[in-house]
Amino acid sequence: MMADKRQYLAAMGIPLWLPRQPLAIQSAAAPVERDEPVPERGEPEVKVEDRSPLPAAEKREMRAESADDPDPGLPPDDWMPPADDAWEPLFERDAADDVSASATAASREARIARMDWEELTREARQCQACGLCTTRTQVVFGVGDRRADWLVVGEAPGADEDRQGEPFVGRAGKLLDPMLQAIGLQREQVYIANILKCRPPDNREPTPAEAASCRPFLHRQIDLIRPRIILAVGRIAAQNLLETETPIGKLRGRVHTFGPARIPLVVTYHPAYLLRSPREKRKSWDDLRLARRALAAEPPDPNEDFSRV
Ligand code: SF4
Repeated sequence: MMADKRQYLAAMGIPLWLPRQPLAIQSAAAPVERDEPVPERGEPEVKVEDRSPLPAAEKREMRAESADDPDPGLPPDDWMPPADDAWEPLFERDAADDVSASATAASREARIARMDWEELTREARQCQACGLCTTRTQVVFGVGDRRADWLVVGEAPGADEDRQGEPFVGRAGKLLDPMLQAIGLQREQVYIANILKCRPPDNREPTPAEAASCRPFLHRQIDLIRPRIILAVGRIAAQNLLETETPIGKLRGRVHTFGPARIPLVVTYHPAYLLRSPREKRKSWDDLRLARRALAAEPPDPNEDFSRV
């Protein structure tokens, strides 16, 4: 059986080769004797002989096996792959690899979800789950009161944070302190973390894959802190926490919730944006007041316009 061959070759470390384009024999509905596949979606017709270097006799043999074999695309044992771009090794696109990768990610996520602070910190500091581990100076895990009511979540470490190992310490980050003071909070009274624990080169945006790799750390931090309110600072933080692509202008001005615990979450602008656009500070002040009201479980005033300048 072809499945046995596949296992045998895999155990030997020998990659299987398959055509990049499907052969006619891969269609179970194709008549047994037809060599010309029906072109799909307007593609030009291509004869099997144009794509496959297999002799006709071998193709017939493969066809015969395909009648009862669920994996009909495999060539015979003595076939050698041609040296052209029409064929590729199976290991590059084997669906089993995808299943295995997602199972590994799920088990890592489950393991992190059970960690205490000490284990979590150690795991993050050693993390190599995404490519940013090769360019970081150090992991910026998070800082503040681990029993805080307020959790502030930003985007990712910048150059200063990467150097000092603490979030929101650069010029933009320092604007966060007076923002918090404006609602009666000292920096030490809140917990501050980022979507990413490692700095993206040149302060580029996190990729979705990087954010997904780092997500278990932040989610575990949230589980351990159990904040009463989350302040998502900037578009990247807001969109990742709320799992949406809605623009920040539409996410501001209302109270969202995060996770099964339905923790109130309020979105505001990133201090870096406020440095570039100081006139928007008023909106940020409105956001902070909204968050403070949400924390106090005060229902928002339906007549108040939080999006005004
Ligand atoms: S950004 Fe997060 S997932 Fe990527 S290496 Fe750093 S800690 Fe690990």
